[in-house]
Amino acid sequence: MLGLMQDRPLSLPMLMNRMENQYRDKTVTTEQIGYVMTAGYGEVATRIRALAGVLDHLGVPRDARVGTFGWNTQRHLELYMAVPCTNRVLHTINHRLSASQLTFIVNDAEDDVLFVDRSILASIWPVIEACERVRHIVVMDDGADFPLPDDPRIHDYEALLAAAVPVDGILEVADERTAAALCYTSGTTGRPKGVLYDHRSIVLHALMLQLVDSFGLRESDTIMPVVPMFHVNAWGLPYAALMCGADLVMPGTSTRPEQLVEQIERHRVTFTAAVTTVWRDAAGFLDGRDLSSLRHIVCGGGAVPVSLSRHYRDTVGQPLRNAWGMTETSPVVTSARITTADRGLDDEHHLEVLAGPGTALPLTELRLMLDDGSLAPHDGQARGELQVAGPTIAGGYFGQTGRSEAVTEDGWLRTGDVATIDPHGRLRIVDRTKDLIKSGGEWISSVELENEIMADSRVAEAAVIAVPNDRWGERPMACVVPVAHGELTGDDVREFLRGRVAGWWIPEEVRIIDEVPKTATGKFSKVSLREMVLQEN
Ligand code: AMP
Repeated sequence: MLGLMQDRPLSLPMLMNRMENQYRDKTVTTEQIGYVMTAGYGEVATRIRALAGVLDHLGVPRDARVGTFGWNTQRHLELYMAVPCTNRVLHTINHRLSASQLTFIVNDAEDDVLFVDRSILASIWPVIEACERVRHIVVMDDGADFPLPDDPRIHDYEALLAAAVPVDGILEVADERTAAALCYTSGTTGRPKGVLYDHRSIVLHALMLQLVDSFGLRESDTIMPVVPMFHVNAWGLPYAALMCGADLVMPGTSTRPEQLVEQIERHRVTFTAAVTTVWRDAAGFLDGRDLSSLRHIVCGGGAVPVSLSRHYRDTVGQPLRNAWGMTETSPVVTSARITTADRGLDDEHHLEVLAGPGTALPLTELRLMLDDGSLAPHDGQARGELQVAGPTIAGGYFGQTGRSEAVTEDGWLRTGDVATIDPHGRLRIVDRTKDLIKSGGEWISSVELENEIMADSRVAEAAVIAVPNDRWGERPMACVVPVAHGELTGDDVREFLRGRVAGWWIPEEVRIIDEVPKTATGKFSKVSLREMVLQEN
């Protein structure tokens, strides 16, 4: 027997409804080059309807992919809504990828039209000029002085909007499983793969971010997504903000660390989120700033060094809080929080808890799979491959038919991360299956070694890679960036590790380097690091 509740699709037009009827006066503020753009949600919604008219005018078919090369801006937010609310698919693209990756992605997605910030156009023009299947290129003028190329496909965003016949009435997406957005994985290994989110997953994920035990996003927040809108929908923050009616602050092109800190102070930001590298770079600019408005700082996408979190707690009044997720998981699956299990424990313990990925959000499930296919217990000790399931988790990749290797027979996503889960459900990432070091037949966790090295306050960054070794098969090599150059040696690092890790884990070779090479999304690129080290050898 079926229940008798209303069968209404969980779809993005629901958010449009709230923007137009409940939160007209809430604002979106964008830093453009040389000026600041501010608009109320009511005005933004009017522009979204005009943009929907533009898509019709350009003849963009239903289900077609609309590619975007944009910073975090109000215009990008308009695309976030206008494209999926009219049954098209928003395809956000990371302009920092290599030319060959970008060409692959635009062609694989079969983008019909591209929307590009003028300041980004300069770096990607040769790539998109050659993408012959793209019928229109709409330039969003952010004040950059890059001269517009002479190409009949080019249009001006504001001119199109001014001339548009807006789409009035109810915006309807009949089936909540309709594709809404497409994002390619960062591609640290292999070719990029497209993750295709549906309306339902985006709406559920936005709700999940509002739970008090996750990010607790709320109407009174001023949310500044630093994580780019081309990376997993800026971790879902723009959609969650529209749903709960929070104000949004968009950094646009002003993403230098000192600029970010200045914006947090000026706009009284309460909630912000970025990867570790951003918070590490910003750490030097916190002194003398009034950042007391902040109530929650998310540091995701990788491990949080406790020393960095402590620095934020001591200068800003808020520690960094970790969260775990992947492009395939919308992305937030776990978030760190202090629970009743931590009652009575001191501040140092709380810092460590908040620096870990935390516990699974409702609607998501975690499990650990051992090599023999059995499940590991959640005892905080047993390690296994982390697998996740839920309505916000990918079940396959764009364009692939049949079951993906990344999905188990019973429908769980294999994450490629190695983890433990404690009896309170707390996740700890100890490694990645692609990044373990096998020394003398035993595994060394490169991530754990990095964390231990980074616990030294003299260390800014550390990455551990496997190097071939005649006797042991492989040995770890640590590449370390000191906080102050000339004041840290390889012996200091080894000495610090003594007693913190098993003796055989301590790397014989420690290289002091200037910088750990990063992927386009700011993660450590072990591939480039390995190449760098091999060249030097
Ligand atoms: P991406 O799809 O580019 O967001 O990368 C997802 C991967 O980043 C995960 O599979 C992890 O390897 C890593 N990652 C994300 N969050 C964390 C975290 N909190 N701690 C450690 N690794 C993380």
